[in-house]
This record gives sequence, structure tokens and C-alpha cells, in this order.
Amino acid sequence: MRPTGCAVPTRDEGTPEDLLPRLDKLVAKYRELIANDPANKVIGEPEDYYRLYDRADVERLANSPQVAEPQTPDEWMIPIAKKLNLDKVKFPLILVNEYGWNIFRMSASATLALNDLPNAHVHTDTLVKQVTPITDGDEVQSWQINYQRNEHDGKSQQINVDFLINASGFRTGVIDDMAGVDVTRMVEFKASYVTHWSPEKMGGLMPELIIHGTRGTPHGMVQLTPYPDGNFQIHSMNHEVTLFPDGLAKLEQDGDKPSNQPRLKDDYRRYIDSDWTGEDDQPILDARSQKAIEQVAEFVPSFASATVVGKALYGGQQIPGEDDTLRVADMSVYKDKRYARAENVKASSALQASDVVVDALAEIGLLAMSSDAERDEHRWDYLAKYNVNDIDRVAYLTATARQFPTAMGGVNRDFIS
Ligand SMILES: Cc1cc2nc3c(=O)[nH]c(=O)nc-3n(C[C@H](O)[C@H](O)[C@H](O)COP(=O)(O)OP(=O)(O)OC[C@H]3O[C@@H](n4cnc5c(N)ncnc54)[C@H](O)[C@@H]3O)c2cc1C
Repeated sequence: MRPTGCAVPTRDEGTPEDLLPRLDKLVAKYRELIANDPANKVIGEPEDYYRLYDRADVERLANSPQVAEPQTPDEWMIPIAKKLNLDKVKFPLILVNEYGWNIFRMSASATLALNDLPNAHVHTDTLVKQVTPITDGDEVQSWQINYQRNEHDGKSQQINVDFLINASGFRTGVIDDMAGVDVTRMVEFKASYVTHWSPEKMGGLMPELIIHGTRGTPHGMVQLTPYPDGNFQIHSMNHEVTLFPDGLAKLEQDGDKPSNQPRLKDDYRRYIDSDWTGEDDQPILDARSQKAIEQVAEFVPSFASATVVGKALYGGQQIPGEDDTLRVADMSVYKDKRYARAENVKASSALQASDVVVDALAEIGLLAMSSDAERDEHRWDYLAKYNVNDIDRVAYLTATARQFPTAMGGVNRDFIS
């Protein structure tokens, strides 16, 4: 739970003031959400959502001692004031009360919730090979899914389902092709890199830091995201770091028929399928990680001492529609086909997508609705049963299994003993 500092570089054509209308819009929306339900007040008071710091404020804070575990906005601002090259940015700087959403902990929550539901069966290490509608006249009654568990055992199995939800990430088009549903989309390969900065050099916890810039240009946005124990994830939205040459794939013909699945370049598919660990591939990952460190160090000079961890958070990102500058989630429900597609551009889009699916299932009589209040307030049984230590344990196991620094899942290790 740490805020995010935003800075506009002196070289950028924009100004910090350009960001204010968006921030004010968010404040108004947050205020409205709290008025609807006080339980929505999870990131402090709306009037504290963002704060501006002019150069004199920042220079004053630069002379204050850094705090190991900052609590107030000013305390969070001290590391930025001390470490940022103040001649490279425009003022005011902006501190926004946006926390991080740790992917390992989100995965842990989902795992615990699903384990607890007797009707949910998660088949990992399982590949869907074909989906076939079972029809009565023109109406789809159910779907048959053919799948293969464990790519080495080779045996094909099948299951029949009343309703099929396609949420296959950047490969959503493969299932759309099987289902015979046409849609326009693009897919983009991109990567962020894990680096490590010694906690002594950091001098205490850091906020997230965003240096604005235009995506796809050499001076695209730089984003430094802190994780526990000195681990940092870096995005830098230029082609040397996060974006890739020919990384954006559009729809093409598949033989003589159009396909719904954009085809990423073979190298990028290999990175995704082989965990980016090929003999010739690791040097590319390390070189991009080092470049990421250098691009942060342009603004935070002491970050030059950070080191490459040799891991990335990366993949194909789906872009519904035809405009790659407009990245909005798409949820499409084909009730007569008993089929839905969730294109989750951001992880948080999954919440909205599941609400739409639940409504559709209720409407076609496949689900008895729980009360709206129960859904709106996210009153899930598993929340009463598990606590932060359970999340720590599962997040730790996930980070370890995927060979990321284990601290990226969280730092509480009491459960290990
Ligand atoms: C580099 C990068 C950084 C990102 N940063 C952020 C961020 O900071 N914040 C944020 O909110 N979002 C971020 N995103 C986007 C976020 O990762 C996605 O929105 C989210 O993962 C989508 O979730 P999903 O479950 O819909 O799809 P996915 O997470 O892609 O999951 C789809 C699953 O379907 C499986 N699958 C596909 N085809 C088949 C098949 N035929 N048979 C069986 N299984 C199949 C895949 O293996 C995969 O496990 C980022 C994405 C990338 C690539």
C-alpha cells in the first residue's frame, strides 16, 4: 500500500497540469462510489487522492531524513525528492494515492477462493484442442470441449458444458476460430523486467514512480514499480525495453479463410512457450533489463547501481478492436450460442467481465441469482476463512515455483516455521 509519484520530464511537450482533469475526474468518481457505499473508502479520503509538490516543497523534503516505512504523503515523497534529478522534470510533481496490485498475491487469492468452491475444478497443464457446439435446430444447447491433459500423455479427454466462457488471454482468437465466432482484434508482445536495488541504497520503502512520455517513441513512459526486499519491476514504453520490433500483430488469413487469431512473430511465441530461457534468448532478456535500469537512472541517477535479476513479467496482450491506441476491455456474450468472450486488457477487467457473465447465466436460467447486494459488496465466503498469512503462503509458493525472487510474493515469512 504505497502511493505513486508522477513526473513530466522537461523534454516532454506536456505539462503536469495536463494530468489534473483526469485526476479530478477520478476524485469525483471515488467520491460517488463512497456515497453509494462507505465500504468503498479503501484508498483514504477523496480530497487526499492526489497532492501537488512544487520545487520549493520538494527541495525542503530532500533535506529531511528518509523514513524506513513511510506513512504520510510527505514521508513517501522524501525518497523521490532525494533521488530524482530535479533538473530533468517539470513541477509540480504529483503524488497519487494509487496502490499496487501484486500479481502473485492476486493469484494466491484466486487460488484460495477456487479451492474452496466444490463446483470449481481447475485443470492446469491442460490444453483445449477443440470446442464443438451441440445444437438442437439453430439453438446451441451445450458445448463439447476436447482437451489434452499434460502434453506428454497424449490422451484426449472430453467434457460437456452448458455455457462456454472464452478467456484465453492473447490466444482468445484460437477458441473463437473453433467456435465459429468472428471478431476484430490485435495482439502485442511486451515485457517488463525484474531488477534488484540493494535496500541500503534505497534507504527505506519507495513509492511507485512514473515518468511520463509518449508510448512507442524513444522517450516513452518509464514506470518503476517497487516490490518487497528491493525488487523492482520496470516498464519503459520504447522499443529497446518494453515494446518490440514487429511486436504488434494484426489479423491475417489462415490458408484460404480469415482467422480471428493474430499471429505473433515466432521468436515472441517461443519466449512465451519456453519461459524465455532458451540459450540465445536469455542474453536478450538481460540486455533489455540493463537498458531498463539505464533508462530509470537517467531520472534516478543512484538507480544505476541496481542489478539485473534475469526474469521478466511478459506476454501477449490482447487489444480488442482495430485501434491500438484504445485499449479497453471487451466482454461479448452470445446468449443464443451459450458462448461468451472476456478480453481482459487489465487484470481488473476480470471483475467487470464476471459480473456480465453472471447476469447472462441468470437471464438464460442457468444460475439462480444471489442477491445484488451480496455481489456488489463482494461478500465471498472464502474471505471470512482465509487471512493475510494464507495469502503470504500461497503467493510465496507461486513466486518460488515460477523462479521469481520469493520476496516478490510478500515479505511475511512467519508461516515457514
Ligand atoms: C508485460 C505485461 C504487463 C502487464 N501489466 C499489467 C498491469 O500492470 N496491470 C494490469 O492490470 N494488467 C497488466 N497486464 C495485462 C494483464 O496481464 C491481463 O489483462 C490479464 O492477464 C488477462 O487475464 P486473463 O485471465 O483474461 O488472461 P491470461 O492471464 O492471459 O490467461 C489466459 C490463460 O488461458 C490459457 N490458454 C490459452 N489458450 C488455451 C488453450 N487452448 N487451452 C488451455 N488453456 C489456454 C493460457 O495458458 C493462460 O493461462 C500486463 C500484460 C503484459 C503482457
